[in-house]
This record gives sequence, C-alpha cells and structure tokens, in this order.
Amino acid sequence: MQGKDVLLEVKDLHVHFPVRRGILFKKTVAEVKAVDGISFNVHAGETVGLVGESGCGKTTTGRAILKLIEPTSGSIVYKGQDISGFSQKEMLPLRHEMQMVFQDPYASLNPRMCVMDIVTDPLIEHKVITHSQKEDTARKLLEIVGLDPRYMNRFPHEFSGGQRQRIGIARSLSLNPRFMVCDEPIAALDVSIQAQVINLFQDLQEKMGLAYLFIAHDLSVVRHISDRIAVMYIGKIVETAEKHDLFKNPMHPYTKVLLSSVPTPDPANERRRRRIELVGEIPSPLNKPKGCPFCTRCPNAMDVCKVEEPSMIDVGDGHQVACHLIKR
Ligand code: SF4
Repeated sequence: MQGKDVLLEVKDLHVHFPVRRGILFKKTVAEVKAVDGISFNVHAGETVGLVGESGCGKTTTGRAILKLIEPTSGSIVYKGQDISGFSQKEMLPLRHEMQMVFQDPYASLNPRMCVMDIVTDPLIEHKVITHSQKEDTARKLLEIVGLDPRYMNRFPHEFSGGQRQRIGIARSLSLNPRFMVCDEPIAALDVSIQAQVINLFQDLQEKMGLAYLFIAHDLSVVRHISDRIAVMYIGKIVETAEKHDLFKNPMHPYTKVLLSSVPTPDPANERRRRRIELVGEIPSPLNKPKGCPFCTRCPNAMDVCKVEEPSMIDVGDGHQVACHLIKR
C-alpha cells in the first residue's frame, strides 16, 4: 500500500477487563487481557484482514478502535488525530466516517423497524436528512447493495441471511464512511452466499474508496479480500504481511497451522497438503502462558519460548513475525 495515506494507526493497544469479586467492595482480583499490546495500521482504500481463533481478541480490537469499548492504554490515531481518549460526544462527528458491520445480521437489525427505517435511521439521527427524504435515500442505498428497493417496507424477518447482511451494510454505508470494521460479516451466512457478500464489499471499496479492517477466524475468508493480513493469538499479533507474502512464506508456527487448514482448489495439492493439528485448547486470556503466548501448543517450542516473550521482528517488505525461530 505504498503511496497511500495511513488512515488508521493503532499503537501498543491494550484492552483489559477487570475481574471483580465480593458483593460490597467488588475488589479487582484479576484482569482479562483481551488485547495485549498490538500495533498495526490501515491505509486509505486498503483491506487489512485480522485473523485468529475465537476468543483471541479480534472483536475487542475492532470495538476498541471504534470506541464502542474503552481501550486501557495505547493510541488509536485516525487521520492524524489520537482518538483513544475521546469521549462519546467527541466521537460523534467521527461516527459518520467510522462504521461497523456485525457478524449476525439478524441480531443487529431491529425486528420492529421496516428496511426503509433501518437504513435511514443513522441519517435521521445525525440530522443529515429529513423524514420526507427517507424513501429516496433508502431506494439509493438498497440499490447500492443490490437489493430491490420495492421491498423497503418489509421487515428483517422477511429476508434471507444474505439479504439481511446487505441491509446491515446499507445501514453502515448510509453516512458515507471512509473506514469500516467488518466483524466476521459472512460467518453466519450460507457458503453459497458468502462469495456474493465478499464481492459486494470489494465493489463498494472500489466505488467508494473504503478501507476495511476485516475480521475473520480463518484465512480462507480473508484471502480473497485482504491486501495485508495480521494473525492474532490470545491478544497479540504474531505475524503480519502482505497477503501474497503471508500465503507464500508463512513464518510463525501458528500462521502455518491456520494455513494448513485452508482448502485449495487443486485436488492434487489438496492430497499433498499436510494438515497441522493443534493440540490443546487456546489458553484463557486470564491465565496466559509465560514467554511466547503460543508456547503451550507450538510444535516447535523450545526452552526459551517458555520464559521469554519474542519481540516482533521485521524480516523485510513489512513482513513482521514474533517468534524465537526468526533471527534478526
Ligand atoms: Fe513456537 Fe517458540 Fe516461536 Fe512461540 S516463540 S511460536 S513457542 S517456536
């Protein structure tokens, strides 16, 4: 993404949640380190895929960037402005630009509102349009996401999963954003319509110059849409690279595990492919292993991995890896 402006810069972001005990004093007895010091950036018009198993902190990262939850420390710089300490009131003007698409399209749509009201609600709330402009605006938004505007008076339950996700996308687009956090937006959809929704995201990006942070739990989903990919494991980014570089030359053992489960279209390759099985469960962010966060499951773990946390090393062309196997 050389030559494009950095739109979002996340530096050493931490999101910790206190675990409290006691009825009266609610004493803090521990901390869940959901996001534990991650750094990355997103350029204008770029898609960064954020990948990792459930519970690794991807969604918390997305929500913290949009200030839907408060970061514990670190900075979130959007268009040169550090928004990490912004109040909800200070965030209001930026809500136009920074939007979110949710995983479950049905749960994120108000079942009592018709589609016209759902997609124009943010515009009414921000006083961008009046009630008399709702119908025209809804028509345009539904056309953009490939839905028939004749159905704008219907309710969410009258649509399929893919159509409901399109309604959610139309609502997120209504304020003409520059940056969107897409939180597993196709995970709840049938495989047959996942590709359509991914294509829709790409078309919109081309037409509107949108930048995405695209969150998914497996690499096959972000392969098609991402320019760069960051791999996350219990609150840490362990590897980040340009998409082609990451698929051609994965370096972190965890990335190799994730890649080994990505199906390939070539049956001969598929037969040759050796799937690496992970043993054990992902550790709780409440009780993280010492040293490398992946040391309890890593097939290459060495003694040093259990005592010393590896730092992020740049191996060239923006490819960064946090693993003791990588030499500076
Ligand atoms: Fe595995 Fe050690 Fe590398 Fe961690 S630092 S990924 S445990 S080899």
